[in-house]
Amino acid sequence: MKILSVASEVFPLIKTGGLADVTGALPGALAALGVSVRTMLPGYPSVLARLPKKTKALHSYADLFGGKARIVAGTLDGLDLIVLDAPHLFDRPGGAYGDGSGVDWPDNWRRFAAFARAAAADIASGAVGDLRPDIVHAHDWQAALTLAYLRYDEQPSPPSVMTVHNLAFQGQFPASIFPELGLPPQAMALDGVEYFGGVGFLKAGLQAAHAITTVSPTYAQEIRTPEFGMGLDGLINLRAGHLHGILNGIDTGQWDPQIDPHLAETFSAKSLKARGKNRRAVEQRFGLDADASPLLCVVSRLTWQKGMDILAAELDAIADLGARLAVLGSGDQGLEGALLAGAARHRGRIGVVVGYDEELSHLLQGGADAILIPSRFEPCGLTQLYGLRYGCVPVVARTGGLPIR
Ligand code: ADP
Repeated sequence: MKILSVASEVFPLIKTGGLADVTGALPGALAALGVSVRTMLPGYPSVLARLPKKTKALHSYADLFGGKARIVAGTLDGLDLIVLDAPHLFDRPGGAYGDGSGVDWPDNWRRFAAFARAAAADIASGAVGDLRPDIVHAHDWQAALTLAYLRYDEQPSPPSVMTVHNLAFQGQFPASIFPELGLPPQAMALDGVEYFGGVGFLKAGLQAAHAITTVSPTYAQEIRTPEFGMGLDGLINLRAGHLHGILNGIDTGQWDPQIDPHLAETFSAKSLKARGKNRRAVEQRFGLDADASPLLCVVSRLTWQKGMDILAAELDAIADLGARLAVLGSGDQGLEGALLAGAARHRGRIGVVVGYDEELSHLLQGGADAILIPSRFEPCGLTQLYGLRYGCVPVVARTGGLPIR
C-alpha cells in the first residue's frame, strides 16, 4: 500500500511540535508493516538546504498562486519526500507559520492552499510521475484543503484520511479568499469549505475525508462535546461513524536513553544510577543548586492550552515544597516573563531557559525526576511518553492522551 502523507512539518527537517514528531516517525513504523509512505511538505529553507543542489524538478509551475514553483523529490533521513519549492510562499526567514516573533504570516491561507492544491491536483491525482497513492493522509489544517480539492475534482480520487493533531488550530479565513482558491462555486457551502461565514480549512478537510482520526481515543470522545469541540463538535458528531482515536506512539530510535547522543550519560532501566550525570548537567544548564531534592521539569510551548499560567501561579508553592524546577519552553511573552520572574525570585531553585532546544529537551527527560504537564486539553501529548521511556515520571492533568486509564 502506498500512502501520500501531506504535512506542514516533519521531524527532523522542520518542527514546531508533536505534529512533526509523528509525521517523521510514522513512515518508519508503517514500513515495518509493508506500507510505504511518501511525505509531501513545503520547501522551507531548512528543507531545501538539505536537498542535493541538482535535484531535478518533477514538475514546474509558471504561476502557482502568484509565483513560479517546482515539485522536487528526494530521500532525506530515511524519509521519501516530495517538496513544493515555491520561493514566494516558503523561502523566508522565521518559522513555518510566522515571522518568529509570534505573528503569523498574513498569507498563510495562500501558502497552504497552494500546498494543498499541488498535493491534490498534481500528486494525489497521479498527474505528476507515477506518484498516485492508494490513500491520501492529510495532517492538520495546513494540509486539510488537499481533501477538499480532491473532493471537488471531477476525476475519481484515492480514499483519504484527515488526522486532527490539535483541533484548536483550524485555519479560518475570511470569505474574500474563496475566489482565489480555485474551487468550484458549490464548494462555498455548509457541507463544503464554508465555516461561520468564512472559509475553514480544517472544517473542509473534516467534511471531505473518508476517515477522520485523532491522536488519542479520549480526545476522539472529547472533541464531540462543546467544551473541547472548538465550534466543530456539531460536524464531528455528524461524522462520528468515521471518527477513530488512535493513540500516538513515539520514535523509539530517536528517543532511546541507551544510545541518545544528547545525554551526558546514557542509561537503561537497569542502570538508573547513570541518570545522575544528566541530573548534574541539568542543574548546571539551569543554574540550580546541586542537592538531593526532587528535580521537576517542563518541556512545553508556553501557552494557555499547556496550563503554563497555572504553573506560573504555583512557582512559589513548588519552591516552598523544597523541590527544584527546570523549565524549557517558548511561546506567549507574558508567560515567558512570569516564569523568568519566578526564577529570579527563587534563584537556585527554579531555572528557566526560554527557547526551543531539541538537545536540551532530551537531557531534561534523562536527568529530571518528574515532568509536569498541566494541560487544559491535550490531544495526545508526547512529552509524557518520552518521560515514561526515560524514567522521568509524568505528572499530568487528566485530559486527552495524558492519563493512563
Ligand atoms: P504540542 O505538539 O502540542 O506542542 P506535544 O507534547 O505533542 O505538544 O509535542 C511537543 C514536542 O515538542 C515534543 O517533542 C517536545 O519535546 C517538543 N518541545 C516542546 N517545546 C520544546 C522546546 N522549548 N524545546 C525543545 N523541544 C520542545
